[in-house]
Formats: sequence, structure tokens, C-alpha cells
Amino acid sequence: MLTTAAQENAYDVALANFDAAADALDLSQDIREMIRYPERVLTVGVPVRMDNGHIHRFEAHRVQHSSVRGPAKGGIRYHPQVTLDEVKALATWMTWKCAVVNIPFGGAKGGVTCDPKHMSQGELERMTRRYTSAILPIIGPEQDIPAPDVYTNAQTMAWVMDTYSMTKGYAIPGVVTGKPLCLGGSLGRNEATGRGVFYTIQSACEHLGLPLKGAEVAVQGFGHAGSVTARLLHEAGAKVIAVSDSTGCVYNRNGLNVPELIHMKTLTGHVAGFPESEPIEHGELLAIECDILVPAALENALHAANAGAVGAKIVAEAANGPVTPGADRILEKNGVFVIPDILCNAGGVTVSYFEWVQDEQHLFWEAQDVYDRLQRVMKTAFREVLKIHLDRRVPMRTAANMLGIGRVAEAVQIRGIYP
Ligand code: NAD
Repeated sequence: MLTTAAQENAYDVALANFDAAADALDLSQDIREMIRYPERVLTVGVPVRMDNGHIHRFEAHRVQHSSVRGPAKGGIRYHPQVTLDEVKALATWMTWKCAVVNIPFGGAKGGVTCDPKHMSQGELERMTRRYTSAILPIIGPEQDIPAPDVYTNAQTMAWVMDTYSMTKGYAIPGVVTGKPLCLGGSLGRNEATGRGVFYTIQSACEHLGLPLKGAEVAVQGFGHAGSVTARLLHEAGAKVIAVSDSTGCVYNRNGLNVPELIHMKTLTGHVAGFPESEPIEHGELLAIECDILVPAALENALHAANAGAVGAKIVAEAANGPVTPGADRILEKNGVFVIPDILCNAGGVTVSYFEWVQDEQHLFWEAQDVYDRLQRVMKTAFREVLKIHLDRRVPMRTAANMLGIGRVAEAVQIRGIYP
């Protein structure tokens, strides 16, 4: 959702990606009819008494794209530019993503059109509780399980869990994932997305014969996903040479000190002005000559007008939908290896699944168990997608969609249609 000259509707992109994979799978029209569209779309008004005493009504959505393979699963996004189409796209991608990593969930997403950076904690809490109460009839641990996304976090999930539990009359931790540890959260969940991105980058480097040690990396977006990816790459000996957030971009050809940058971002909320770095423009970061570019902000970061300038060998999509179909064609022509979002950032939902399993069993795992299981899941999914990419000579994105959509199609076929 970055503002670009070539802004594309994310839902159109999701449908175009679906159609390409469905064609490659030769899916019947009947199956397409059943799995292409969301099962349920709910839009609610969320009135909140603001700190100034006035009431403001926020527009909010919860979209359940699929429950064919299990409960719908997906984050809640707070952002001024949230639209229903964006939420539908994100819910659709969740369905294919859960199927790519073969966890027994469908896809969902929630979004509230708001500006969380200009809201107090009290306003955020009241908005979260009222939104939860509005979507309460359709969520639940066996039905639809929210999680954090852009500008929501473990605290937001604690408010959702509390509101849901108070209404039901007893504690139900399994209604959300990405919770604080003291409420049934999982060790390793905080860094799961970035860790999963890191594992897929490792696999891509092995496939391409590119040593990770010394590899040059640029990261767009230094939040949950981007900062953890940067730290793990730094720890593995890669050189993170450029990083950005919404406030600016910092660059150092010799490598940025990532732990110190994370420390500064935690203290000040921005990366701009980091010592031993020079400022560059947002557009320059995407065009930097490097080995690995990690878009970890929002949709449409790379589009037809700027993809030709990408100077990286690998684009690892930590964000959802950062590359438009127009950009995809250019990257492919230029030989850039793309690790598509529904594979690359699936570590978050995978550890969400582990969290849900632990909540259901009331039995909690060591961090190392989480990391080992996550690594197995991510590396298996990467191998399976790569095999389709090589065997069928399709782009990695189509290969990932073929794997995910193929699994959902098989499930819907065998379940049949009710009544
Ligand atoms: P976040 O809010 O923690 O971080 C987003 C970051 O992007 C912030 O640092 C923000 O300043 C930066 N940003 C925003 N606009 C920017 C711009 N124009 N240029 C550069 N940076 C910009 O969010 P997150 O959870 O890290 O999510 C980032 C992306 O990863 C989203 O697409 C999200 O859907 C995806 N994702 C997140 C998770 C997760 O578990 N958090 C899982 C899967 C996918």
C-alpha cells in the first residue's frame, strides 16, 4: 500500500495470481467457483469515545476467505489506508500461505481504517475491544483466529482475548495468537516471521550457490518482520547495507551495525539519523546493487515503473504483496530470484499454529523446539515450491500458488459441496 505512481488494487493482484496458478493447475471451473472468492465478508462500524470526549466511528472489516482446511486464520491490521479490497486480498493470500506450509488452517484477515500513530493507548484499547465485540460472532479458536499484523501487537491480542473471554465467561487463550507469553503465547512467536524469512533466504542462497556470509542486503521496512530478518542475516555474517522505515532510509556500504540500529529504533521509533550511516531516498534503497533485497513494509513496493531498477539477485518478500504482477514480469526477465510472500513470510503463521496447538493442549514448548520445527516446515515448503518451479518451469510465485491452491482444491474436491 505504499503510495506509488503505479498503485495497484491488491485484490486484483490476488485474483490475477490465483488465475495464473489455477490455469497452470488446469483447475476445473467448478473448483475455481468454490475457492476463488471469500466465504464471508463482514464490515462493521466501530464507535469509540476519543480522549477529547467526542465519538469517532471507525470503519472495520473481517474477511474469512476459506475454512476448507481448518479454522480461518489471519492478522488484524490498523492503518489509515486499510480498505475492504486490501483485507480481501490479504485474507486470500492467508489461505494459500497456510496451505503452502501445510498447516490445517484456512485464511482470514481483519483491518481497521485508523491512524494508530496518533491514538492514545486508551483509544486503541477501546477501539480494539469494540471491534472485537463487533466481530465476536464469527471468531473463535475453532472458527477464526486473529493475530497481529501492521501496527497491532501482543498487547492488542491480549485485549482481543480478554474481550472474547469476558463475553464467553471463561479464559479462551486460543482465540488469538501472537499473545503475550503470560497469556498462553508461544516462545519464538515474536520473531517467527523474520526467522522464517531468514530460513527461506538461506535455502535460496544454497540453491543459487550464493554464500550468505558477506552477502549484501537491503531491507525496506524495519518493523517486526524486517528488523528480525536483518538481525538474523547480520548474525549469519551477511552485510546489511541499507534499511528504511516510514521516517527515512539509512545506508552504509560497509554494513550497518544492526543490533545498535534495532536498539535505536526501539528507543526513538525511527532509523533516520543513525550514526555511521548516510541518508538515502526510499526509491534509492530499492535500486541498490546488492545480493538480497527484503521488502518488509507494505504492498506495491515494487511495480512496473521501478522494478527494472532493482539491483538485487534475490527479492525476499517479507511483506505481503510487495511486488505487483507488472513488476514480477520485469524481475523474471532480469533473472531476479523472487521468494514469494506466501512462502517467504509464512513463518509467522506457522508459529501461530504452534501457539494454537500449545494452547489447545495446555502444554508449552521450549524455544528451541519452536525454532527446529519452524525450520523443518519452512525448508520443506521451500523445497516443494522450488521443485514445482523447476519441473514446471513457472515463476516461483506461480509455483507457490500452485502448491497452496492445489492443496485447497484437493480438500474442497474431497469434501464435496453442501447440501
Ligand atoms: P510493522 O508495523 O512492525 O512494521 C512495518 C514497518 O514498515 C515499519 O517499520 C514502518 O515504519 C515501515 N514502513 C511503512 N511504510 C514504509 C515506507 N513507505 N517505506 C519504508 N518503510 C515503511 O509491521 P510488520 O508486522 O513487520 O509487517 C510488515 C509486513 O510484513 C506487512 O506486509 C505484513 O503483512 C507482513 N507480515 C507480517 C507478519 C508478522 O508476523 N508481523 C507475518 C507475515 C507477514
